[in-house]
Amino acid sequence: MDELDSAAFSVLEAIASNPMGYAADWKRRAGRPVVGSFPMNFPSEIVHAAGALPVIVQESRTPITEGRSLLPEFYCSYTRSVADQAAVGELDVFDAFVLADHCVQLLGAADVIRWAKPETPMHFAQFISSMDDPWSGAQVRDKVASLRVEVEEILDVTIAPEALSASIRAFNKNRHLLRQFYELRKTGRLRVSASQLQVLVKSSMVMEINEHNELLEGLLAGLDPHSHAPDSLVRLHLSGHFCAPPRPELLDLIEECGVLVVNDDLYHGTRYISTDVPEEGDPFDALATWYLDRNISAPCGTRVQRNVDWDTYLVDSLESSGADGVITLMAKFCEPLMLYYPELRKALDTRDIPVLLIETEHEGLAAESVRTRVETFVERIRRQKLKVPSLA
Ligand code: SF4
Repeated sequence: MDELDSAAFSVLEAIASNPMGYAADWKRRAGRPVVGSFPMNFPSEIVHAAGALPVIVQESRTPITEGRSLLPEFYCSYTRSVADQAAVGELDVFDAFVLADHCVQLLGAADVIRWAKPETPMHFAQFISSMDDPWSGAQVRDKVASLRVEVEEILDVTIAPEALSASIRAFNKNRHLLRQFYELRKTGRLRVSASQLQVLVKSSMVMEINEHNELLEGLLAGLDPHSHAPDSLVRLHLSGHFCAPPRPELLDLIEECGVLVVNDDLYHGTRYISTDVPEEGDPFDALATWYLDRNISAPCGTRVQRNVDWDTYLVDSLESSGADGVITLMAKFCEPLMLYYPELRKALDTRDIPVLLIETEHEGLAAESVRTRVETFVERIRRQKLKVPSLA
């Protein structure tokens, strides 16, 4: 898999592995503030339009030390890592924090930041999670309005609608560019690994969006897709993993087992880039529309909506990508995913679609045990396709 071996990719890779280094460097270069936000539904456009750098706070790879005593062990690795980063000073680059989601574990991490950095403003917009109640649209518009006021106060600026429209166009362009890589991967003609795609998405969550767009355009111009997809590999869909990216070495390990990942619904993947903000009409209203649309284009287990569900979306995605099965990646103690997974499993089992659950942890990866499980899963799919009776 070598299509992305270029200087531009190396830059993105370095930034994805050191987001705080990039943020500090940007702050020095631009002389403007850096605002941290949290997964999975914060509209970065509003911070960008205020002249600051919006950065989605990432899980750190460093071991959790001081954070151990600040959140219970049964919190997910993302929130425990955020708490640890706050306690050891790794979040000092941020001039303010903003969030719109209200997973209870995320709120715990936000409380630790408030405790560790009492001088840094933190605004909680709390977008409604019930998406299709009669009052949902009005509630989200109200929250966007209060978010605007808060961001303007914190950064001491006025956000002009024209500035927000320009930011919306830049972020839409970014999503459009990223989706082109995903579309090419779905055909199997672009042999880009899941960990390489993760670099593209993760760096977009951190970088100034116009800088990121420029690098993506360079990468796309250099692509040379194959004329056809390799047919010896088992095509899989990666599902789950909210808020934080699965370890790149886990993604590489999966693909080393004779797998071609053709699609995903990971947050550091298609979920993040699924939905554009409308470019017509009032740009602040457009952010509210974007939030409500996101759960239609990529339904999430953290949201409630009567007319869409994640299992139907997943089954439809498998049909469109031709995936032979699903690997669900679940961060240990991620309650929303733990609670939703039985529904997904039932929908897949009913249709005889193979599914493998892999639980991930901050502290490491039991590589050989995971390899054995993935190899067995792949072999089961191969036999199923050839209609050879399973040995299990
Ligand atoms: S949704 Fe899951 S991964 Fe995200 S903060 Fe909540 S528990 Fe953690």
